[in-house]
Order: sequence, then structure tokens, then C-alpha cells
Amino acid sequence: MKAVILLSGGLDSATVLAIARSEGYECRCLSIDYGQRHRAELSAAERVAKSLGAHEHRVVKLDLATFGGSALTDRNIAVPVEGVKNGIPVTYVPARNALFLCHALAWAEVLESSHIFIGVNALDYSGYPDCRPEFIEAYERMANLATKAGVEGRTRVKIHTPLLHLTKAGIVKLGRELGLDFGLTFSCYDPGADGRACGQCDACQLRRKGFDEAGIEDR
Ligand SMILES: [Zn+2]
Repeated sequence: MKAVILLSGGLDSATVLAIARSEGYECRCLSIDYGQRHRAELSAAERVAKSLGAHEHRVVKLDLATFGGSALTDRNIAVPVEGVKNGIPVTYVPARNALFLCHALAWAEVLESSHIFIGVNALDYSGYPDCRPEFIEAYERMANLATKAGVEGRTRVKIHTPLLHLTKAGIVKLGRELGLDFGLTFSCYDPGADGRACGQCDACQLRRKGFDEAGIEDR
């Protein structure tokens, strides 16, 4: 069975790909080049897709820097290093997951696939509204009204969110069980010119917390 996997190149989406593969899906990976300052994740996505034997990996270009409004797409907004606080942080990218899912949905329709995988997580996350289960449920309902394949009954889109209720440590443990090489993944929002993770941003902190709690070393 074909599935479209949204693959950023980070720890979570790489684990999602490993899960989909272990469930026997023929995995078509989709990465989005949206003008993110951490473009290093795109080469990580390529490495991960190759390493996990994805059937295909495509990159769609989407210029969200045109709108800005996020520390990840606007160089004038700094990536915060003071840790995860209450409220929605400036690293939130306006409507990102809605936009990503639209692209996954379009490809799934062409493939006549009913399965889309996305690595959203409602526990150890940064407070992004488009990572919540209610968003995913509503999107899935919409998706089945939005496509020709859906209306004609050839597909019945299901959005798989296998990480939704896992902690970061749980994700790390699961990734390891599935044989994921974490060294291929990349999580930092604000890497240095040398491409190394900053160690301070939300993404770096969450990643470190996950590995610490799982008792696993992050190379
Ligand atoms: Zn970082």
C-alpha cells in the first residue's frame, strides 16, 4: 500500500517513516523547502529517506519567506534560546502543517493513496496549534471532501499520526527499536555556518531532553 510521508529530516518525521515502513507501506517521502533558515534539514531528509529505503523522495519548493511572520522564515526575527515557555513561540510558522498536508494530499490523490503520515506530537512539542489532534481530525474530514479521488470513492484519506501521544523520550526509544540511525537526522532551528546544531533552540532542547530521558546517547 502506498503512503505519503511528510519528512522534514528531523527526529520525529524520521521515526514516522521508520514506523510506516515497519507497517509495510510503500513509502513516498515528501519534504518541503519553504525558505526555512535550517535548510540543513533537507539534506538530512534525503539521507533518512535513502537509509530507510523509501520508494521515492520528492522536495516541493514553497516560498513561505514571502510572508515571513516566523523566526524560521524571517531573518529579522531571532530564534529564541530561552527555553520552551507558555504560549505559541515565534518559531511557529503560519499555517505550516495545513500547507504541508495540502501538498501531501495532492500527491496522495495522484498516487491513489489513502494514507498520509505526519509526525505531529501533542505532548513534548512547542505549543504549535497545527500539531493538535483536533486540527488533524478536522483536516482529515476536509481532505475527504477536497479531492476527486475522495468524492469518487477511490480513496478514503486517513492521516496517520503515530507520534501524537508519545513523549520525546518515547519517540527516541521507538526510533531505536526500529533501527533508525539518529545520526542522519537534524533537528536544530538555527544551525551555525558550519552546519552544527546550536544546542540552545527549542528544537535542540527538546531533542536533548528526549535522549536524556530515554537514556540513549545522541551522537
Ligand atoms: Zn538548535
